[in-house]
Amino acid sequence: MIEHFIAGSATPPADGRTFESRDPHDGTLLATVARGSAEDADRALAAARAAFDDGPWPGMTPQQRRAILYAVGDAVDAHREELAELETRDGGKTITQSLHAEIPRVAHNLRFFADYAAMAPNEAYPDGPLLSYTLYPPAGVVSAISPWNAPLMLATWKIAPALAFGNVCVLKPAPQTPLTAARFAELAAGAGLPEGVLNVVHGFGGEEVAGPLTTDPRVDRITFTGSSATGATILAAAAPNLTPVSAELGGKSANIVFDDADLDVAVPMSLRAIFGGNGQVCLSGSRLLVQRGIHDEFVARFAEEAAKLTVGDPKSHDTFLGPLIEQRHLDKVHGYVELAQTEGGKVVTGGARLTQGELSRGFYYPPTVITGLTNQARTAREEIFGPVETVLPFDTESEALAITNDSPYGLAGILFTRDLDRAHRLAARWKAGTVWVNCFFERDLRLPFGGEGISGVGREGGRYSREFFTEPRAVTLKIRG
Ligand code: NAD
Repeated sequence: MIEHFIAGSATPPADGRTFESRDPHDGTLLATVARGSAEDADRALAAARAAFDDGPWPGMTPQQRRAILYAVGDAVDAHREELAELETRDGGKTITQSLHAEIPRVAHNLRFFADYAAMAPNEAYPDGPLLSYTLYPPAGVVSAISPWNAPLMLATWKIAPALAFGNVCVLKPAPQTPLTAARFAELAAGAGLPEGVLNVVHGFGGEEVAGPLTTDPRVDRITFTGSSATGATILAAAAPNLTPVSAELGGKSANIVFDDADLDVAVPMSLRAIFGGNGQVCLSGSRLLVQRGIHDEFVARFAEEAAKLTVGDPKSHDTFLGPLIEQRHLDKVHGYVELAQTEGGKVVTGGARLTQGELSRGFYYPPTVITGLTNQARTAREEIFGPVETVLPFDTESEALAITNDSPYGLAGILFTRDLDRAHRLAARWKAGTVWVNCFFERDLRLPFGGEGISGVGREGGRYSREFFTEPRAVTLKIRG
């Protein structure tokens, strides 16, 4: 059984309950996992509290913590293949992506925030007899709740800054993908992370283990990545204690292609923006807006290339799209494709579950392209979180911007044009936390990351993470003359 990891040790569930983690490729049972309860949350929070109040971690210098976080990063590198295989089997992510993008990014998250905390500039204002400066003491105990779509990468996007700034954590990974978080906790302890600094509890939301992690007064910060609906529940749960919440939520991001774009860049990049990660990516460019002059040519090329993408066993290095995460999600994705057709949409390619050969045992869905919808269609407005692209034509820049911003979401935007004036103009008016011009998914971790509207509350990354995970304190000292 995969147990919780509390106070430096594998810990069985208090009430003995478990759940199963299965391979979405073929349904193989990968592990039985401790199903956390309120009592498990209580034990993890007690361990975290003790580590923060009485342990060495918060009092270490940033350089001392940096050395340990680097050692954890080295342990991740040393176990890259093992972690990548776990990630791929647990969540269906392609092995290429696990091995070459996500697990390396786990190590990068750790090293980046270790460096940032050790080297971040501070402010001091000598003003006559007064010397004023800012301290950044850690906030305390952090509840980190993460989703299944990029399990360890997103978990460490929270854990790394929290720990680097001197906090301690209780992590609850998504129940669909518990394996890498469990292994990571062992590796981190082996690399020298002190007892109780990182605790991992497994299980579900609501009244089970995750609920208490959002309502307990021993929690000083909640960092959450997941759906907008769960984000709203967590903000409400945190409100009575006034616990600060950082919430990174869903998206329905526009990808605008102007008729001056280099199509040799725009076509492959747009394919990657929706079908990379199987569309199970918060930042996906899931609303494709194409200027009318190139619309038909673009859609023909895009659909033709989409149909050629390899769907299959994510353990194969040739696979571009693995299975979707679970049956319920497959049903949801296909339900939207059916809905699109009742809303007037035309399925240009894809649109039906794949069941041939070995795909019959997994949750496989092909790259799907839908045209003919307006921006008012539910399919074009709601987050599908699967390999489904809706394509809308537009005539002018202002029309494209109006369609783009007519969304409750505001996570990301993607733009293909050779006109840099236009790019800057649109970036300034785009309702989105991130805008990419002629590229996708490039990230500088010093920049803010987050969303507007129902895509999130707050920002993380670089100094934004420091502000969230610390209690910035003003100190003023008067020098006697
Ligand atoms: P989800 O909201 O269903 O679950 C996320 C996590 O919250 C899981 O660990 C789950 O167990 C937990 N949870 C569920 N109910 C809870 C409750 N009441 N209290 C506390 N915790 C609770 O989301 P998901 O299906 O795992 O992930 C997909 C969603 O995440 C999509 O909407 C996607 O866009 C979003 N996402 C956003 C970002 C971002 O950075 N903005 C990144 C990745 C995924």
